[in-house]
Amino acid sequence: MSARVALVTGGTGGIGTAICRRLADLGHKVATNYRNEDKAGDWQRRMQADGYDITMVKGDVGSPEEAEALVRGVEEKLGPVDILVNNAGITRDTTFHKMMPQQWSEVINTNLNSVYNMTRPVIEGMRARKWGRVIQISSINGQKGQYGQANYAAAKAGMHGFTISLAQENARFGITVNTVSPGYIGTDMVMAVPEDVRAKIVAQIPTGRLGMPEEIAYAVAFFIPDEASWITGANLSVNGGQYMGW
Ligand code: NDP
Repeated sequence: MSARVALVTGGTGGIGTAICRRLADLGHKVATNYRNEDKAGDWQRRMQADGYDITMVKGDVGSPEEAEALVRGVEEKLGPVDILVNNAGITRDTTFHKMMPQQWSEVINTNLNSVYNMTRPVIEGMRARKWGRVIQISSINGQKGQYGQANYAAAKAGMHGFTISLAQENARFGITVNTVSPGYIGTDMVMAVPEDVRAKIVAQIPTGRLGMPEEIAYAVAFFIPDEASWITGANLSVNGGQYMGW
């Protein structure tokens, strides 16, 4: 596979770290964003100790200006972005009748507006170079809904609506646009859920266990090679069989 420049948002998180590692293992030049210097420094040192040289550029994906600066920073350091993985995400769970405007808007901004903010600065270059990969990390809860997550499910379902439109607009330019929808993965986001709730979640997963970040990274990598160039507008569920719809 040709070496490409990959930008993975939220690379310092559980799933993002696995995606960064996987893409680097495949020979790509990988970059991610950070927000907090200390946290970023620790993460980068851990990655370097494992032999990974991941480029880090500061930026909040919820800000159009910072997202654009992040892309330009990566371009300066590594060259034009060929692969964008929109992975950064947050939750602010509560039932809708108690949901405050901020809980709604923070989740929509970080999980969905970020997809505009990050993709807009890379798409014209991909079109000009006639090659690109844009991959959204959505969620099983965007497919089936989830009690206490009207904000998150709306944002995650919106990501796939974005995917299938962008896929149509850019198919003739060698750009594929796809979604990966993880089920419950044993990262900090899920381990923060109370243990009794987690046990109930695991009981609903036919494989009988939480997923591993590496299993999401594998799905992301699947969309990248030239052999995958006819796969666009797809949503790949990686959820241990918990939800088998679209
Ligand atoms: P983590 O909380 O471990 O990581 C989230 C990452 O996103 C961190 O690097 C965080 O950076 C970054 N981030 C958050 N907000 C912003 C922002 N405004 N600007 C830039 N970066 C930001 O989450 P996971 O690894 O578990 O999840 C990754 C993705 O997978 C998310 O989109 C999530 O919704 C999705 N997902 C996760 C599932 C799971 O079971 N874990 C299931 C289904 C989907 P910082 O350290 O600065 O906060």
